[in-house]
Amino acid sequence: MTRYVIVGNGVAGVAAISSLRALEGSAEIVQVAEDARGFYSRPGLAYYLTDEIPEKMLTIYTKDDWRKLKTRFVKGVVTTINPQKHQVEFGALGKLSYDRLLLATGSTAVPAAVPGAALQGVVKLDDFDDSRRIISLARRAKTAVVLGGGIIALELVEGLKARGVKVHYFLRGKRYWPNVLDEAESRLLEQRLAEDGVTLHFQTEAAEILGKSGKVIAVRTTRGETIRCEMVAVGIGVKLRLELAKAAGLATDKGILTDENMRTSQPDIFAAGDVAQVRDPVSGQAFIDTLWYPAREKGRIAALNMTGRKIPYQRKVSVNVLRLAGVMTTIIGAVGSGVDDDLVSVARGSSESWQQLPNTIAMESNMDVNHVRLMIGENTLLGAMVMGEQKLSLPLQEIISSKVDISSIRHLLHPGAPLGQIIMDFWESLKS
Ligand SMILES: Cc1cc2nc3c(=O)[nH]c(=O)nc-3n(C[C@H](O)[C@H](O)[C@H](O)COP(=O)(O)OP(=O)(O)OC[C@H]3O[C@@H](n4cnc5c(N)ncnc54)[C@H](O)[C@@H]3O)c2cc1C
Repeated sequence: MTRYVIVGNGVAGVAAISSLRALEGSAEIVQVAEDARGFYSRPGLAYYLTDEIPEKMLTIYTKDDWRKLKTRFVKGVVTTINPQKHQVEFGALGKLSYDRLLLATGSTAVPAAVPGAALQGVVKLDDFDDSRRIISLARRAKTAVVLGGGIIALELVEGLKARGVKVHYFLRGKRYWPNVLDEAESRLLEQRLAEDGVTLHFQTEAAEILGKSGKVIAVRTTRGETIRCEMVAVGIGVKLRLELAKAAGLATDKGILTDENMRTSQPDIFAAGDVAQVRDPVSGQAFIDTLWYPAREKGRIAALNMTGRKIPYQRKVSVNVLRLAGVMTTIIGAVGSGVDDDLVSVARGSSESWQQLPNTIAMESNMDVNHVRLMIGENTLLGAMVMGEQKLSLPLQEIISSKVDISSIRHLLHPGAPLGQIIMDFWESLKS
């Protein structure tokens, strides 16, 4: 009987288990994870932090779902992989052999590289325990400093605000998330944050976190100010968890390199989820996506290939529908500006492809918080940003993902053209 060992109980690992069990009713499936809390929604942590959803809504699989999957769960940290012996090791605690191994080890927050970063009160938002810690500290904290750009830093700002903590938000650059948002979009969100009582500090970084009796008491900034606070929340990017793969001699770049079948440089070892950098056979490029749905799909495809099938992972246009500073936002495809931003590494909940500066003409339509930006290529739409009213979100996701020829609606480019109406009419015509 084939023994499949899956390292990681995030969405990629669990999607792989679910596919494996559907394909091979009697195979032995062992799930190894250091986090005994189990499988839950990481994107949901933001809403748990703002107290909009209870803890139990984070859980995705019921006990009955797990029973049907018939897995063996091993709680522990895999410390070494031995590809020659087909074994994973748990330090001094033992070994486990595998026929096929999946590495779905995810990513972890990059710590702030400043003195004082280890003080009590310095937090990150990777997992359930982090959100619990933040909630507990926020009960006693009056003021917090949040560091970083992108989605996670903003979720930290909003979570702390919702818990009654006064927030100072430090941005390294001149505006929020400049490599994905354009200036109007950044300003829109910054204004919403300011109206909500958040103090934004542009071109400001933490130089040192000051402490007393092991606890945070202030942050000294690169501009020479000292801001008193009891918490410092860090959202400056994530590091993919490559250590095991590297030590085992697997080919790595920013992530664990895999072919289109999610196979690493070792034939019986596969990788999926945030940690996998999958080669696209068409472009030859290998991208990183730290997004929920691509992680799930990579897990599913890896499982198919682990059973001996040959199914390539087809990278889709990256989409995220989320709330930024209270504004519902959909990010689709290539929308970036190519500008550097506040993140020191890979951003979580993000896609490298968003940051690409496509060869396009950008069209915008603005009405209060309702904002649409389209990135228009030669004959196709390459990307879109939809903020506020979300009526165009689904039509644009479909038009962009299916690379529909839009030459019949090039009047989009006329100044003052009613973008929304043209897109809706075009989408309707595609369906009929
Ligand atoms: C707060 C937050 C908000 C997010 N928001 C969004 C969003 O809006 N939209 C979106 O698409 N995505 C979002 N994401 C990202 C999304 O959740 C991730 O892309 C996805 O969870 C990645 O899944 P994964 O299975 O690859 O890795 P993970 O979920 O990171 O799981 C990896 C697991 O492997 C375990 N592990 C690692 N190394 C070892 C080892 N050596 N031994 C044993 N176990 C190990 C870890 O403990 C972990 O449980 C968000 C993430 C967070 C944290």
